[in-house]
Amino acid sequence: MSTATIPANFSELGLIPPLLARLTELEYQQPTPIQAQAIPSVLAGRDLIAGANTGSGKTATFALPLLQQLHAEKSSTSNSASKGNYVAGLILVPTRELAKQVADSIKSYAVHFNGAIKTVAVFGGVSANTQMLALRGGTDILVATPGRLLDLISSNAIKLDRVSTLVLDEADRMLSLGFTEELSELLALTPKKKQTLLFSATFPEQVKALTQELLNNPIEIQVQSSDTSTLVQRVFTVNKGQKTALLAFLIKQHQWRQALIFVNAKNSCEHLATKLSKRGITAEVFHGDKGQGARSRVLEEFKAGEIDVLIATDIAARGLDIEKLPVVINFDLPRSPADYMHRIGRSGRAGEVGLALSLIDYEDYHHFKIIEKKNKVRLEREQVEGFEVDEELNERLIADKPMAKPEGTGKKKRKNKTSVNADIWLRNS
Ligand code: AMP
Repeated sequence: MSTATIPANFSELGLIPPLLARLTELEYQQPTPIQAQAIPSVLAGRDLIAGANTGSGKTATFALPLLQQLHAEKSSTSNSASKGNYVAGLILVPTRELAKQVADSIKSYAVHFNGAIKTVAVFGGVSANTQMLALRGGTDILVATPGRLLDLISSNAIKLDRVSTLVLDEADRMLSLGFTEELSELLALTPKKKQTLLFSATFPEQVKALTQELLNNPIEIQVQSSDTSTLVQRVFTVNKGQKTALLAFLIKQHQWRQALIFVNAKNSCEHLATKLSKRGITAEVFHGDKGQGARSRVLEEFKAGEIDVLIATDIAARGLDIEKLPVVINFDLPRSPADYMHRIGRSGRAGEVGLALSLIDYEDYHHFKIIEKKNKVRLEREQVEGFEVDEELNERLIADKPMAKPEGTGKKKRKNKTSVNADIWLRNS
């Protein structure tokens, strides 16, 4: 589609007044690129493959047409009594946080339908009983994580044989989290004839195979992240032993509120929080070992601005919608380039200015280059005064010639931090 044909206003997309009124209340001034390109076709019943990150406005892209279609169906059927434990619009998501968030967005978009469209979210980690109760008599829209949905199906709490629209949100994440089998089981339970919308930030082979199997003559839309936000990416080189000190310095210097810091392991969350607290910075942690109650509480407080610094594993990298998150910091680099995109997508959302900062030391250097290459960016290596890396290393980094690893910096533990070679990296620790 050429730019000239893309509608610039929500009113041109074919949405009905109750939805348009809600978008005005939510102060959505104009459709994001994916909304402008996809909503008219989705309303017309087409299947969709969309390459889009969170922050692009993808939730509204599927939620608004889905609500409109279901509302029209319900209004035209005089006998709207539900048959058993039906679901009409099924949205599969990889995490419980995303399930709640998507359901909340849908409920918010639907306020002017005055309760005519029922939306339920189901996910693991909490008791299934309340969810079963919520599903009594069926639901128009169900937002679900795959595992819990299968459990609920096996206890006859819900059936998928009347699904008319299926949305796979963050398909790549769902597959990378190991939901492949659950997904095939669930797909087999849905009717053959349905509208399918698939959203994925990346398209590895597994996702491509899924799209071929599932989608019927879909429209394809790829949204570049640069279209969706004004996110500034920066990278600071630092000696390994000074990372925490630099982080603490930056947090204090910039007085960041709502800084989301990523590390790679659950226990690293706790370690870093302890180290920061010794430097006078209070931080909360968010990772998979925390109970659902604690995770929800921390998230609510962080969203409300009551927590300044949140240290999280990649569990927070997908889907969490925290308005106007000013800064995301990679304290540990993510394992994959795709995860990097997901992490930085937490900031600079829907046109807001955001900062994605990565702190890299010698050991991260090559990995960061791979991340840049895959994501087609090349960032200038910066240093912070007072935290400069050793001169020799710096020269190598500038010349793009990392020096051979000093003995002992590999997997084997260093016996003695003051050993001559290791000292190059640890001088400032
Ligand atoms: P999503 O990519 O669906 O997670 O949406 C990211 C954020 O952008 C959410 O906070 C939405 O409420 C917001 N949003 C979505 N569409 C628009 C729009 N057209 N204008 C302004 N904000 C939007």
